[in-house]
Amino acid sequence: MRLVMFFIFFYLAGCGIGLNLPKHDSRFNSILNQFQQDAAFFGKNADTSKISVAFGNPRKEYELLGVIKLTKDLGNVDAICLMVPKDSNEIGKTFYRSMYGRHAGDRIIIVDQSFQRKTAEEIEILVYHELGHCALNLPHKEDQVIMSSVSNGTVLGIYRYFYLREMFLNNKNYPLFIYPLEAKDLDDNDNLELVYQVDYYSFGKRLKNELYFDHNKEKFLFLDDVVESSL
Ligand SMILES: [Zn+2]
Repeated sequence: MRLVMFFIFFYLAGCGIGLNLPKHDSRFNSILNQFQQDAAFFGKNADTSKISVAFGNPRKEYELLGVIKLTKDLGNVDAICLMVPKDSNEIGKTFYRSMYGRHAGDRIIIVDQSFQRKTAEEIEILVYHELGHCALNLPHKEDQVIMSSVSNGTVLGIYRYFYLREMFLNNKNYPLFIYPLEAKDLDDNDNLELVYQVDYYSFGKRLKNELYFDHNKEKFLFLDDVVESSL
């Protein structure tokens, strides 16, 4: 009898009671990687290698977890960053392990199922917001675009560099205008300095653009969907 009890305890401790969180969806890997690169570009260290991301039901996963550090109002949420509790002392550790099993201490982003039908850009900015919480421990900042608690449907797009600079460096200097640039205008133009560029695949789409600064005219220029070099 004693042996049976022993096994039951370890079974529960090993698996967690009632906690069956969605598994990481590898389709988010490129966004996790790009976020880490963008953070490094702005001089920040954001380790996203241990963060899981999955489609699911944010509210349901939150309720299942019971005790978490809530990072987004649970009104009508599109996603949440779940920080599964853990404790460093041995008694607490045993308690949390029995509650959350191997998930204790995990950070998991749950993106609402409905986003499977959204564009790569819409998924990206939502995951970037949650990574602000999960990877950088940022709180909501209502005067920012990415870290505002209210999603306004914005995508990074032409302001990508400036939205990211605001999130990573809290720099709120936005140019009044960003002018379009064509690839042919880059030829023999020594006044143009490449400020920022992005080029990666996410959810079947290539997100690629470049931001330049014209030192003669003192203005920013945006090159969208950069044409492949024929070389
Ligand atoms: Zn949030």
